[in-house]
Amino acid sequence: MEIADTIAQVRTAIRERRQAGLRVGLVPTMGFLHNGHVALIRESTTSCDVTVVSIFVNPTQFGPNEDLSTYPRDLGRDERTCIDAGVNILFLPTAAEIYPEEFQTFIEPGRLAEPLCGAVRPGHFRGVATVVAKLLNIVQPDAAFFGQKDYQQVAVVRRMVRDLDMPVEIVTVPTVREADGLAMSSRNAYLSVSQRERATCISRGLLAAQAAFRGGEHDASKLVAIAGAEMVDIDSLQYLELRDAETLEPVIGSVTRSAVLLAAAFIGSTRLIDNVIL
Ligand code: AMP
Repeated sequence: MEIADTIAQVRTAIRERRQAGLRVGLVPTMGFLHNGHVALIRESTTSCDVTVVSIFVNPTQFGPNEDLSTYPRDLGRDERTCIDAGVNILFLPTAAEIYPEEFQTFIEPGRLAEPLCGAVRPGHFRGVATVVAKLLNIVQPDAAFFGQKDYQQVAVVRRMVRDLDMPVEIVTVPTVREADGLAMSSRNAYLSVSQRERATCISRGLLAAQAAFRGGEHDASKLVAIAGAEMVDIDSLQYLELRDAETLEPVIGSVTRSAVLLAAAFIGSTRLIDNVIL
């Protein structure tokens, strides 16, 4: 596995392989890798000849009172995970490499970025879209891999790629869960043992609503209520909403087309998100 710290290095490493006609896959991450990230990497190594993983804790997607400075990091372990998963190039830029002095150009996502996480994390998706656009421009992959766990993020990225005519295929990979249902997340590392146990009620609620939907319950407010009834062990609920799977518009009344139930909740000071598609 080649390690590239600079944009110039990663471009050189990829150029030779692209000239040889190889298909390039990109998996953007913030590191502290877990099996959710590995699932993305495996999708890439299966469908591409060259897999590039980026690890970059992107400052522009964090709000002023969020966890940028405490975000978990373990580069040694991440390198081993990438080698074991068959990654060819690991891109580890510094913040100064991505945002040099005088940096001033941002991507402004539209309506898809307004509700849900966009409403409670102002500027978050502007930072996400900007860094993803930069990574896509730097690596110029044939395909880029994103997790369904961050549902709104993939929706915003897909929209950006279409709206700005970026020549890349966006692949969504299903959410990888712990044995007890908790969606894998680097932020799960913040949880104490008892908080970790309490966190399972989020996926339990979402999966209960999904089961009810499959059992014939199509009333949007009842499905939300079924999920909410399970989420009693969280400390606070930021949102629990049923939305159109494509447009992210609220679903009111009966679910007549593909919908997604999304939740964001605090366990202590840790913010967790999860979703299921109905
Ligand atoms: P992060 O490092 O948290 O920014 O995530 C990097 C990528 O991994 C994003 O596309 C996430 O959606 C994806 N990801 C994170 N957790 C999971 C998971 N449990 N299952 C599938 N993909 C995930």
